[in-house]
Amino acid sequence: MMKQYQKLLLGFVLGVVLGLIGYYNLPQKAFPFMKTFTDFCTLTGAIFLRMIFMVVVPLLVSALILGVFELGKGRGLGKVATKSLTFTLLLSFMAVLIAITLTNVLQPGVGVTFDKDALAKNQGVLSIQKNVTAAADKPWVSYITDLIPQNPVDSAARAFGGEIIALMIFALMFGYALSMTVEEDNNPFIKMLETIFNASLRIIEWAMKLAPYGIFAIVFNTTYRLGAGFLQNVAYFAAVVVLGLLLQQFVVYAACLKIFAKTNPWKFFKDCKEVYVYAFSTASSNATLPIALETAEKTLKMPPEISRFVLTCGASANQNGTALFEGVVVLFLAQVYGINLSIENQLVVVLMSVLAGVGTAGVPGGSLPLIAILCISVGVPAEGMGLILGVDRFLDMCRTTLNVSGDLVISKLVSATAGEPENK
Ligand code: ASP
Repeated sequence: MMKQYQKLLLGFVLGVVLGLIGYYNLPQKAFPFMKTFTDFCTLTGAIFLRMIFMVVVPLLVSALILGVFELGKGRGLGKVATKSLTFTLLLSFMAVLIAITLTNVLQPGVGVTFDKDALAKNQGVLSIQKNVTAAADKPWVSYITDLIPQNPVDSAARAFGGEIIALMIFALMFGYALSMTVEEDNNPFIKMLETIFNASLRIIEWAMKLAPYGIFAIVFNTTYRLGAGFLQNVAYFAAVVVLGLLLQQFVVYAACLKIFAKTNPWKFFKDCKEVYVYAFSTASSNATLPIALETAEKTLKMPPEISRFVLTCGASANQNGTALFEGVVVLFLAQVYGINLSIENQLVVVLMSVLAGVGTAGVPGGSLPLIAILCISVGVPAEGMGLILGVDRFLDMCRTTLNVSGDLVISKLVSATAGEPENK
């Protein structure tokens, strides 16, 4: 009998291999039945993803309210929140430092040739730039007021349209208020939230049954569409990004787990493998959140009030992979255009990448608008992004895996240093 993660991996590997075989031997023009097959894959992938997405809002709200409620009751909220924030900033900073060092030393952008005119007309880049210009017209005050929802139900309805942070702020405040107003044990409202949380996890279990097929379908379609040619020209750049992500995972995270949590990092990583496969295939921290929550409680046995709080906040606010990626992209493009970034500008890149890791939405391609803003602010032509859009989906899969891995690591670090008993 195969284990779940083996099935996921099999789905993934078959998706890549058959996708590549299809791309080189069965082009859609000559083999019309491939259209039916890719449509079928789109359907399977969408059903799988939507089963997860549909429980993100109930799960996120119930997990956050319950987490903050428990922490507030035990007077541990301030400590857990401060520790989570400290680790988030520290680990993001390390990630960006790796990005800056690797890109300066390995120089992936030097000698890359490209067609400047074609790049300036690239449709993908033009639409990102349009969004950035719209955002630039927004007064700075709105950035802060938009964090507080006017109507949480409306924010919940638009959770995947940029409102997820507002919804989280509501859940955080509501949970804290509950911890101050609910006196009795077994309060029916708290019981109801626990029921919503558990029922949402049950739906995730159903989605997990579909996962090997869903993952096969998504990966097959991506590979069939792109082939392996998308790596041409920017293979070195992609390799630098992947190397950076690996260093963060296997050096920085491993050292932190060993030093701060006295945990064997390799066992920890092994226990997380299912979450990694999900993050990699969906390229979305939010879509992976339900599986991360389940793994944290059931496999890693973390105290639920801590893991619910840290993982739910982290899915949107802790994105080390994204921060690292943004750092590499901006320096890479500066090298491509022969722009010498001063130390001050490199510092701006560091700071803004760390912040961008916090501000990026946990959805596929969530970091692209922020990269455009970052490029503009240090004087690197944003249309250069056209060069990397071809590899973006692949690198998105890689950086999302690190993003989610970082959430689990921080959850472990916070629970281990909070002196809480493990959830047995
Ligand atoms: N896809 C990433 C995530 O969901 C965000 C990004 O870097 O684009 O974590």
